[in-house]
Amino acid sequence: MKQFKTESKKLLDLMINSIYTNKEIFLRELISNASDAIDKLSFESLTNPDVHVDQDSLAIHLAFDKDARTITVSDNGIGMTKDELDKNLGTIAHSGSEAFKEANAEHQGQDMDIIGQFGVGFYSAFMVADKVRVVSRAYGADEAFAWESDGRSGYTIEPAAEGERSGENDHGTDVTLYLRPSTEEDNTDRFLSEWGLRDLVTRYSNYVRHPIQMMVTKSREKPKPEDAGDDYKPEYEDYQELETLNSMTPIWKKRSSEVKQEDYDEFYKSTFHDWEKPQRTISFHAEGALSYDALLFIPSEQPFDLYSKDYEKGLALYSSNVLIQEKCADLLPDYYNFVRGIVDSPDVTLNISRETLQQNSQLRAIARRIEKKIHSELEDMRDNDREGYEKFFGNFGRGLKFGIYNSYGSKAADLADLLLFWSAKEGKQVTLKEYVTAMPAEQDKIYYAAGDSRDRLEKMPVVTSAVNHGFDVLLCTQDVDEFMFQFMRTYHVDAVAGDSEHKGTDARDLEFANVSSADLDLATEDEKKAADEATTEHKDLIDELKGDLGDKVTDVRVAAGLGDAPATIASEGPVSLEMERVISQGPE
Ligand code: ADP
Ligand code: MG
Repeated sequence: MKQFKTESKKLLDLMINSIYTNKEIFLRELISNASDAIDKLSFESLTNPDVHVDQDSLAIHLAFDKDARTITVSDNGIGMTKDELDKNLGTIAHSGSEAFKEANAEHQGQDMDIIGQFGVGFYSAFMVADKVRVVSRAYGADEAFAWESDGRSGYTIEPAAEGERSGENDHGTDVTLYLRPSTEEDNTDRFLSEWGLRDLVTRYSNYVRHPIQMMVTKSREKPKPEDAGDDYKPEYEDYQELETLNSMTPIWKKRSSEVKQEDYDEFYKSTFHDWEKPQRTISFHAEGALSYDALLFIPSEQPFDLYSKDYEKGLALYSSNVLIQEKCADLLPDYYNFVRGIVDSPDVTLNISRETLQQNSQLRAIARRIEKKIHSELEDMRDNDREGYEKFFGNFGRGLKFGIYNSYGSKAADLADLLLFWSAKEGKQVTLKEYVTAMPAEQDKIYYAAGDSRDRLEKMPVVTSAVNHGFDVLLCTQDVDEFMFQFMRTYHVDAVAGDSEHKGTDARDLEFANVSSADLDLATEDEKKAADEATTEHKDLIDELKGDLGDKVTDVRVAAGLGDAPATIASEGPVSLEMERVISQGPE
C-alpha cells in the first residue's frame, strides 16, 4: 500500500488558521501539555520504583519578557527524548499523550487527568508566535535537546545550549514562544503582561490539577527607620514573589456532603460575579458510559439583563478540568435560562479545537438529566420552602410561562405544576393543583381574570361574583398569562379515589376560562328570572344605550348575578379586554 504524501507546510497552515476561532487558547493548550507531562511523571513514580520525584515540587511555571516578546511555559514533568521531540512535535496529529492515556486507561481520572488527545494543540502556538523553541530533558536522560521551528519551513533538533536544562535532575520542558508583532485585531501585546497571563490562566486553566506559578511584582511598605521623625511618610518598594495563579480544586468534583454551603456560595459568587449567594445549589454526579459532574445554581436575584436580548444562557463546559466552552447553551432549556453552573466530563467527544463537543447526542443526554434535576429541585422548593419558592417564582416565573407559550403548549405537562397564581379567594399564591383541589364539585373549568393589576382584577364584578358563588379565580397580571392559557388549553387532573366520606373523581382535563368571556352561568334561577324580566321591562333603555354606543359594542345585555355591581364590560373575543390593554402598553 502507498502512503499518503502530505504537504506538511500547507497542512500546518490550514490547521493553525482554521481549527481555532480563538487565538488566546494557545496558552490553555501549552499548559495542558505541561500538566500532562507532570501527570505522566507522577504516575511513573507511583508505579515504577526507579522513578523518584518529590510530588510537591511538581509545577508549571510561566514567564514573559516584554522586550524580547517571549512567553515561556515550563514544567518539571517527564520531558522528551530527542526521538520523542521528533515524533511528538514533528508529526502533526500524533499524540504521545493519547497513547499514554490508552496504555494506562484504568488510572485516568484518578491518579491522572491526561488532557491531550488529538496531537494538534501544540501547534496553536503558531497562531501567536513566529518562532517556537522547545527545550526538553527526559526524566533520567543525561542530555537536553532543543526543537525549534517557525511553523512553516520545518524544524530542527539540536543539543540544548549551555545552561539550558543542564542540571542532572533538570527533567522537564520549556516551551518559548517568540510572539508576532501585535496587531489591532489580535493584540498579542496583552499576553506580555502579568494580568494578561493571569486572565488566561484563571479563565481556561483555573482547575488544572497542578500549580501554575508565575513571579509577580508586588508592592510593600518599607520598614520604618528607627530615627523617623513625626513627619515620616511611609515609603513603598516593589518586590517579586512566586504566586500560584490557579485555584486547582474543582469543587464540582467533590460530593456535596464533603463541601460546606459557604464554600459553594463563595465559589458561586466569585465564578459568576454575583453579590448574592445562590438561592439553591444542585450538585450531582453521573457515572457510566457517559460520566460527568455537574454543579448548578439558582440565583437569588434576577440578573439585570435576564430579559434583554444580550442575555446569554448556558453552563460552563469543562473536560478533564479544562474549560471547553464558557456558555454552552445547549445544556439548558430556555425556560431554565437563569441557571448558572458547570458541567465537567472526561468522556464527551470534543471536536479537534476542543472548543465544542462533537456529538450532540451526548450533550442532549446531559441536558435532559440536568433539566430533570432542576425540575425536581424546584418541586422540592415548592413543597418544602414555599416562601423561598415564591421568591424564586417572582424572579423567574415569567420565563416558565414563556416556556409553555413558546413550546405551543407542548411543555405544559412539565411546567404547569411549577406555576403559581394569585388566588382571588385565598388572597395568596396557589398552584393549579391547589386550585383544583379546593374546587366545589360542580365547577368544571379553571377560571382566571387577566389584567394589569391584582387590585383592579379583584374588584371586577365578574370576579367578586364568582368568588361569592364559591368559585376561585386566578388573578393574572403578566402579559404572557392569557396567551399561555390558550396554548395550555387544559390542565390534567388525576383520578381521586373516593372513601366513605368523599366521593371520588375520574381523571379529567379542565379547561381554562376567562371569567370575563366565559358564560359563567353563576346566576341562580331567581336571578336569571329577574334578569329576563328586567330585559323586557327596560327594553327602551337598552335600545337607547345600544344606539348611543353604536360601533363601540356588539351588544348590551342585562346580566344576571352581578351582585352589587351596577355594570360590567365583557368581551367575547379570544383575548380579554383587560389583556388587550396590557398588550397595547407594550412589554413590562
Ligand atoms: P496532544 O496534547 O493532544 O497530545 P499536542 O499537539 O498538544 O497534542 O502535543 C503533542 C504531543 O507532544 C503530546 O501528546 C506529548 O506527547 C508531547 N508534548 C507536548 N508538550 C509536552 C511537554 N511539555 N512535555 C512532554 N511532552 C509534551
Ligand atoms: Mg495538547
